[in-house]
Amino acid sequence: MSEHDQIKLNLDEIRKRAIAAADRAGRDPKEITLIAVSKLNPADSVCIAAENEQYEFGENWVKELLDKQIEVNDYFSTKSPQTAAKIKWHFIGHLQTNKVKQLIGKTELIHSVDSLKLAKVIDSESKKKDLITDILLEINIAGEESKYGIRPEEAVAFTDSLAELSNIKIRGLMTVAPICDDPDTNRPYFRKMRDLFVDIKSKNYDNIDMSVLSMGMTLDFETAIEEGATHIRVGTGIFGARDYGAKSESR
Ligand SMILES: *Cc1c(COP(=O)(O)O)cnc(C)c1O
Repeated sequence: MSEHDQIKLNLDEIRKRAIAAADRAGRDPKEITLIAVSKLNPADSVCIAAENEQYEFGENWVKELLDKQIEVNDYFSTKSPQTAAKIKWHFIGHLQTNKVKQLIGKTELIHSVDSLKLAKVIDSESKKKDLITDILLEINIAGEESKYGIRPEEAVAFTDSLAELSNIKIRGLMTVAPICDDPDTNRPYFRKMRDLFVDIKSKNYDNIDMSVLSMGMTLDFETAIEEGATHIRVGTGIFGARDYGAKSESR
């Protein structure tokens, strides 16, 4: 099968499963945004996905996102400017403060804000460009040692500490749930995310406007949808297995 046909087939399959999961939960499938995680996959693969009406992409490293954004934009700029205009980039990886400046203005949403220091840098760099940057707070919902993210029990207080930052807008929460064989084992974590989302949404700060719950990946996106995810981040399920070795120095 050609790469084009494979990506198209995978997209169709993921979309079907997402719709079925939404149906099971009595949710409108239109509430759910599929983010195709294109990290470590070439711009060509992103272009194929976009030709199959997939317009939201997720990347984990700043340089890779910016390079790919240019390549994809170049590809569509004469061929189909309408497609180029529809493509949105989500930053989903761990963000170092020294990389923030380059990223501001280039993303639809930064999913991975996990410290006050990072939030402050995003705010100040956004201010310099006269922008308000949409962000999510990354929650380490299972309290895993190896993971980034704010501890769930600290999340509400954390939003208080961001209240004065007027050039960020907190649009919701994100989590990377534990790796699991049975997606059902993550259900309690997704539920806990949903509860936390509701708690923070009730806060009355000018910079909080909660509508996004970003959770669920290739192995557990259906469970995440059943528990209220509005954005699912699927990589392998669309683009196939990633080669981590090949690009390690570009991170
Ligand atoms: C890589 C990655 C994904 C996609 O993972 P798959 O298992 O390939 O679907 C989603 N979210 C984050 C934060 C990631 O780093």
